[in-house]
Amino acid sequence: MRFELGWCEGARRCESPHFNQRPLGEVSLLVIHNISLPAGCFGLPYIDQLFQGCLDTNADASFAQLQGLEVSAHFLIRRNGERVQYVSCNDRAWHAGVSRYGERENCNDFSIGIELEGTDTEPYTPDQYQSLTALTQALLAEYPSLSTERIVGHCDIAPMRKTDPGQSFDWERYLEKLKEYTQELRS
Ligand SMILES: [Zn+2]
Repeated sequence: MRFELGWCEGARRCESPHFNQRPLGEVSLLVIHNISLPAGCFGLPYIDQLFQGCLDTNADASFAQLQGLEVSAHFLIRRNGERVQYVSCNDRAWHAGVSRYGERENCNDFSIGIELEGTDTEPYTPDQYQSLTALTQALLAEYPSLSTERIVGHCDIAPMRKTDPGQSFDWERYLEKLKEYTQELRS
């Protein structure tokens, strides 16, 4: 999986206007999220619309609260494993909000945001784990300041506000696979 100007080969490109420059150009943290629109519903076009700034807020009563919200992520991984990319990894997407990693605030400045289509309670699909692992491996290879130690959930950098990716995300399964891969690279 190659990258060109921060765009991942093979991902469906769905450009968002919700991005700007990274102040230091740094990419050193990966943030895992979940999203579903409406909550608990999968396979609908609303996540693309939200990140592209064209969500029809009349489509569902719960969308009223999303009116005017300018958010994005670099990637979405759908239930069938499809990868969608909204913002170049070289640019700053708007996924983390008020956040802190160690001593550093504003994690959007230096992180890549990956959304999993899902909820805090519903298990993610095998296709999603496979797709996420392959994408993470490609990102680790492309951005040397990333590492398996620098992968967090949104809940870790905004603990008072956010719970995603939730108890439904199997961190052990994900990180084990990544470590196997990293060891293969070293041997
Ligand atoms: Zn999140």
